[in-house]
Amino acid sequence: MTETADVVVVGGGVVGTSAAYHLAAAGAGRVLLLEREDALGTGSTGSCAGGFRHQFSSEINIRLSLASVPMILSFQEMHGIPLDVHQDGYLFLVRSEASWRSFVAAAELQRGLGVDARLLEPEEAGALAPGVSLDGMIGATFCSDDGIADPSGLTAGYATIARGAGAELRTGVEVRAILMDGARVTGVETTGGPVSTGVVVNAAGPWAGLVAKTCGIVLPLEPVPRNVVVTGPFPGAPDRKTLVVDADTSFYFHREGPGVLMGMGSPSERASFDTTVDEALVANELVPTAVRVFPPLERAGIARMWAGLYEMTPDRHPIIGPVPDPAGLYLACGFSGHGFQHAPIVGKLLAEMIVEGQARTVDVSGLSLERFARGDLAREGHVV
Ligand SMILES: Cc1cc2nc3c(=O)[nH]c(=O)nc-3n(C[C@H](O)[C@H](O)[C@H](O)COP(=O)(O)OP(=O)(O)OC[C@H]3O[C@@H](n4cnc5c(N)ncnc54)[C@H](O)[C@@H]3O)c2cc1C
Repeated sequence: MTETADVVVVGGGVVGTSAAYHLAAAGAGRVLLLEREDALGTGSTGSCAGGFRHQFSSEINIRLSLASVPMILSFQEMHGIPLDVHQDGYLFLVRSEASWRSFVAAAELQRGLGVDARLLEPEEAGALAPGVSLDGMIGATFCSDDGIADPSGLTAGYATIARGAGAELRTGVEVRAILMDGARVTGVETTGGPVSTGVVVNAAGPWAGLVAKTCGIVLPLEPVPRNVVVTGPFPGAPDRKTLVVDADTSFYFHREGPGVLMGMGSPSERASFDTTVDEALVANELVPTAVRVFPPLERAGIARMWAGLYEMTPDRHPIIGPVPDPAGLYLACGFSGHGFQHAPIVGKLLAEMIVEGQARTVDVSGLSLERFARGDLAREGHVV
């Protein structure tokens, strides 16, 4: 007999596990999450720096954070599962006039939505992150409600409460194709056999485009490798876990163990699924920028490095919601490097859409796949 489920979630990262929990808790029926790797959270989620912030340039991203960050902060208390969370703020250092105009406008938008975003003089930024270079700095923005949390812990936590709410989470099973009958989803073909279902949530992270293609849907989504470097201890390592971002280079760091965790984008980055660390980029771009922005790093040694995939859309916003055809297929992908922090609310919104027929908590109708065909794109400017 063919196995059946009311909802199949493809992908066991932080988004898929959050979706599985919220769906099961909302009464979606038999929820089956399928993850092709032998463990959950080994995709983008396993490479993630763990930052959460309200300091975005687009209203929808700010609204998603306003709904999602409290879910991260209250996770331990709500669900009784330990989660490592530090709310020491995000500090953006701005060194060009063009960026400063954009950060001032974004801070105004954030404040209008109730976010405590502050504009700082360079000296105030230096006091918050002792040791950062003030050279050429025009100003900085800071929000003390931003912070970092443990992505693997949140994923494992959602997996535990999803199982508790009755969902089944199965690893080592790859979804090969989404099956359709005319204009409706009828199931998925997997390495473990077919599963009959009327609803599929595509939460396959950077691979979501490959999953969608099996039923003829083209997603404007590119995997972009990003390198992360963790240092050993060094004199001048920050005490606080404030996430510091050099806005014009996108270089960022935060305290990690006795050293820092750091990374940055690069004008030379290209779409690829390859997660081999780009040692030339680390040596020629990341490390020199790191030392320029935070000179104490000159005396740091590298303890470990890895690379993971951002899942980039053209407007740097996620794709959330149902596709018109085939009916029953929901997308939760394309988070463009900020999906960890939005995973809690996105899981809840998917449950609202699927169980109640529409998203209630945040209006994400502007994040549908159709926006790309309409050309209705407003770009998130603050991608870290
Ligand atoms: C270096 C780095 C730093 C980051 N820092 C931050 C940050 O500070 N803050 C933040 O909010 N975000 C950050 N992100 C982004 C964040 O990690 C992602 O947006 C988020 O983890 C996406 O979660 P996901 O569950 O959608 O994807 P993933 O974690 O990639 O999960 C998708 C899963 O689907 C599985 N899968 C794929 N295809 C199939 C298939 N056919 N069948 C079954 N399973 C399949 C994969 O194996 C994978 O486990 C960072 C990302 C990187 C790479």
